[in-house]
Amino acid sequence: MKRFFLVFILIFLGTSSSLLAFTYQPQKPFPGSPLLFEVSEEVEKIRFLGREFYPFSFKGKIYILAAIPLEVKPGRYRAFLLGKQESFLEIQVFSKKYPTEHLTVPSRMIHYPPEVLARIKKEVHLIRETVSGFSPQSYLDGPFVWPATGRISSPFGFRRVYNGVPKSPHSGLDIALPESTPIKAANRGRVVLVGDFYLNGKTVILDHGLGIYTVYCHLKEILVHEGEVIVKGETIALSGKSGRVTGPHLHFGVYIRGVKVDPKVVLEVFDAL
Ligand SMILES: [Zn+2]
Repeated sequence: MKRFFLVFILIFLGTSSSLLAFTYQPQKPFPGSPLLFEVSEEVEKIRFLGREFYPFSFKGKIYILAAIPLEVKPGRYRAFLLGKQESFLEIQVFSKKYPTEHLTVPSRMIHYPPEVLARIKKEVHLIRETVSGFSPQSYLDGPFVWPATGRISSPFGFRRVYNGVPKSPHSGLDIALPESTPIKAANRGRVVLVGDFYLNGKTVILDHGLGIYTVYCHLKEILVHEGEVIVKGETIALSGKSGRVTGPHLHFGVYIRGVKVDPKVVLEVFDAL
């Protein structure tokens, strides 16, 4: 009887994905959330929602950080674990309501003159291209850390509707900070873009490898240069209110394979493992 039971368990394990993926966080993922898998070393990549995500190691364990786009409808989706052995996990994506605010403002506040609009379009394109890149080498050094601590003045995914026209959802979160607060690298990474942009102001983008990027905007002073590799927690800039803002704060964004995800959850998923 005991032997029969053991054989049953082995057959069950052999046909399920539990040998390849041990666990994932958050347990109730939602549109706009990252998804951190702990996988076996046989897994070479995960294909999920049309994108591919690659492994990195930390303290002898192997992880894959994937992303669920904001536009994904709640439901069940398969995450394919690819390697010598292949299998899949069914992931239930839960619904999440993001706050929306309706505002009526004078039209000059939301309409830019053509030359400004042309500049904004160019800069938005450059930033989008940068965070959609892919470096095969991982710079990641374990869990992400907060670039600064303060009140979250605007959460990720927050939608503003101006005069009935919806703007794109907030691509990161805002941390209210006094000017000149040191801003730290959320993880080890290479400085891939430094610039001064119309909307985002002085901005630093770090490439953590494997298609994972962090973005820091509205800075007062930038202390790093493109190409430098920065250790986790190193000061990269001083906070400010550059670009189009109403007060000093840090805009902090995280992109995984070009998908914007809630930075707060990116920090939390590592805590939970
Ligand atoms: Zn922001």
